[in-house]
Amino acid sequence: MYHKTDQILDFFKKVSLKVPSRMRYEEIPDPESELSLPVITITDFATGEAGKEVLLLVGGEHARELITAEIAAWLGRLLTGTADEMASWPAMAAATALARQHGWAKSSLAEWGDALLTHVVFKIIPVENIQGRKAVESGDACLRKTAAGVDLNRNWAHAWRQAEAGSEEYGGPKPFSEPESRVVRLVAETARPQAYVALHSGEYALYAPWDSEAALAPDLPDDLEAVLGKLNTYCQCMHGAAGAVAGYLAYGSSMDYMYTRLQVRYPLTFEVYGPDGLGKTAKGGHPRRRLAATADAERTAFGTGGGSAGAEASADCIRDYNPTTPAEYQEVVSRWLATLLVLADHLAAHPAASAAADTAGQDGLPLPQTPPTKQDLALKGETGVAAVVEKPTVPAQNASVAAKAKRDWLSANYALPLLPSVANMMQPAQVGVAQAFETARSRGGVRVVLAAGAVAAAGLLVYFGWRKLGGAQLLGGGFARRRACSTRRPVRYSV
Ligand SMILES: [Zn+2]
Repeated sequence: MYHKTDQILDFFKKVSLKVPSRMRYEEIPDPESELSLPVITITDFATGEAGKEVLLLVGGEHARELITAEIAAWLGRLLTGTADEMASWPAMAAATALARQHGWAKSSLAEWGDALLTHVVFKIIPVENIQGRKAVESGDACLRKTAAGVDLNRNWAHAWRQAEAGSEEYGGPKPFSEPESRVVRLVAETARPQAYVALHSGEYALYAPWDSEAALAPDLPDDLEAVLGKLNTYCQCMHGAAGAVAGYLAYGSSMDYMYTRLQVRYPLTFEVYGPDGLGKTAKGGHPRRRLAATADAERTAFGTGGGSAGAEASADCIRDYNPTTPAEYQEVVSRWLATLLVLADHLAAHPAASAAADTAGQDGLPLPQTPPTKQDLALKGETGVAAVVEKPTVPAQNASVAAKAKRDWLSANYALPLLPSVANMMQPAQVGVAQAFETARSRGGVRVVLAAGAVAAAGLLVYFGWRKLGGAQLLGGGFARRRACSTRRPVRYSV
């Protein structure tokens, strides 16, 4: 039923040779290490790639979530006409019937998908955490992180936080410390997707940002709720802002990064399977809290199980994250393939490229879908300490994007330790000061900055000294009277 990681990657390699009109197989190297990741491009190459909507799909970010890479592989088969055996799956027949009922598909999902390839490019990273998935195949069934012990979905630069190295959510020593996340970032920066889907499992859910706050991100497209509703035709599960729905915040996730830094129009996470329907609307409740309760209960039970406890816990890990019967496997795969086609269909019907074409940058790439917002500039982190953010390496598509990236970096790196609300109010001034500081530093070096700082400090000393000594009184009553008068007017600050 399940495929080994090498089988999945070999399959993509072979099909790209067999059906080159539909699939390209590349291994994208990380410039800073030896690692490279297989990246699959699927479209109708006869009609080219330029101007099409791009859907970036990433599976296997967490090692034990085996089913996510299976879905990526079956999508590859469906879109290249190499999935004949799916025709005999009862679940596929049911998924097709539902698609016809909605008027999405005329005959099969394969034909629907093929028609979409003249409008959409699928970029697929079937297994992000290759070494981790292989370790699970070798018996380390509960492994979530990489072989190096890092949770790849906490290794991104938006709202990244330091965690204990032993923690299940250890995001590495710094953002993008891991080659896997760097390659995914590189692919996204190059492909500029309109939709990003991170595949995960452990519950059923459809999530949009934020991961790092218990609220829906403010600048998602107006039709986001409607799109989530349409995608939920097949899942019938919890959906909405991850941080609000799950009762659980994730810092440094890929979804939040795709939203804030790469302006992906639909940055999404699909949680594709939960044990006993966990997360399905019919089950209700907060899925992750329920899962935690279940896991605790089972750990307690295994505690008295003697020598076989480890083996049973391993089986439990597989069960908690992956369907274990052929019927359930086929059901999960069929429904999520249909869901991915619903998303691609929506992109094809609502192209962003045409709207952006007349304002495209010199390199001809479409502009990001959402303009820079106040929220983009807002400081993150409830502790009042801004998240550590790398200096932007995104190739700027135009001057405004470059300027925004600079502002983001300045605001993150020169952030004052203030309460978030105060920080938001202070933000324009703070960016201004940081900008001036940065400009001075780049033009005149440290000495100029030190000199400017010394002059400013001297000025402040003189001013406060003057006030302390009652300078106003020395100048006579007139000034004091004018000042008393002026305090009745509302005070205005221009910053
Ligand atoms: Zn996961």
